[in-house]
Amino acid sequence: SEAMTTDWQSVIEEIAEEIKPLLDEGKVADYIPELGNVDKANFGMSISLIDGREFYCGQALKSFSIQSISKVFSLTKAFSFLKDDLWKRVGKEPSGNPFNSLIQLEHENGKPRNPFINAGAIVVADCVVSHTQDSLNEIIGYIRGLADNKNIQIDHAMFRSEKAFGHRNAALAHFMKSYGNIESDVDEVLDFYFGHCSLSMSCQDISRAFLFLANHGVHPRTNKRYLTASQAKRLNALLLTCGTYDAAGDFAFRVGMPGKSGVGGGIAAIIPGLLSVCVWSPGLDKHGNSLAGVKALELLTTKTGISIF
Ligand code: GLU
Repeated sequence: SEAMTTDWQSVIEEIAEEIKPLLDEGKVADYIPELGNVDKANFGMSISLIDGREFYCGQALKSFSIQSISKVFSLTKAFSFLKDDLWKRVGKEPSGNPFNSLIQLEHENGKPRNPFINAGAIVVADCVVSHTQDSLNEIIGYIRGLADNKNIQIDHAMFRSEKAFGHRNAALAHFMKSYGNIESDVDEVLDFYFGHCSLSMSCQDISRAFLFLANHGVHPRTNKRYLTASQAKRLNALLLTCGTYDAAGDFAFRVGMPGKSGVGGGIAAIIPGLLSVCVWSPGLDKHGNSLAGVKALELLTTKTGISIF
């Protein structure tokens, strides 16, 4: 239908032109010093369709720090290991608190509200660490497989910076350990968490890697099943309600796609049965989402008429 006749390349090139005035407006994250060294002028966009076609523009092949987008990959792994037992350890409600908040944990006995706030992602990291021998190398291999790119690497300067300035994440992990909601050694869990957040990927890598979520859990490039159809539905529901920090309502309203953002300025999103898309622009809005990135996705769904609604 519409998606078959859409001229995707023209659409994304138009979008890249229209968001240009916004590239100056956002603020690059610098709470981890290494994140602050990126040029705001960058913009890239990549679309991967289930039918195999791909379109990209701008800096879509340039690697950037994926940060919280990595939480989707660790969640996929933990969900496939623990199945619905995972939800005994981590909730599935939007948080209404900042991504790194400690307050809610005290009220709910160390059980984080959802897997995408830092506390939740650290519990998910603990689940992966408990189920794997060499967790960081395994997740890197897993992500390389999803993205079909053997060259995906950790940015070691970013990793060191995350560790050196990760006191709040360490506090979250220790606090949850005091409630018994972290099984493994806290430092080991944090190394895994900081490690996957420090991976560098391009928009093209990420849009390819997210395709299984648009295809009921099976990656169409390899026919490999990562999640059951029901689990993929659940993960997409979490992305819609919790994937874009405290702006998930606004993101659903403006964009209408399940998506995950990271403070590196990337946002990955999907339309079930059709496509995955990744945009990158490092300037962030006040919620921590890429300012030009959210606008680009809003323009994508507006121009093409696609959305999950
Ligand atoms: N590594 C980052 C942190 O835990 C992830 C931040 C993000 O992208 O939300 O602080």
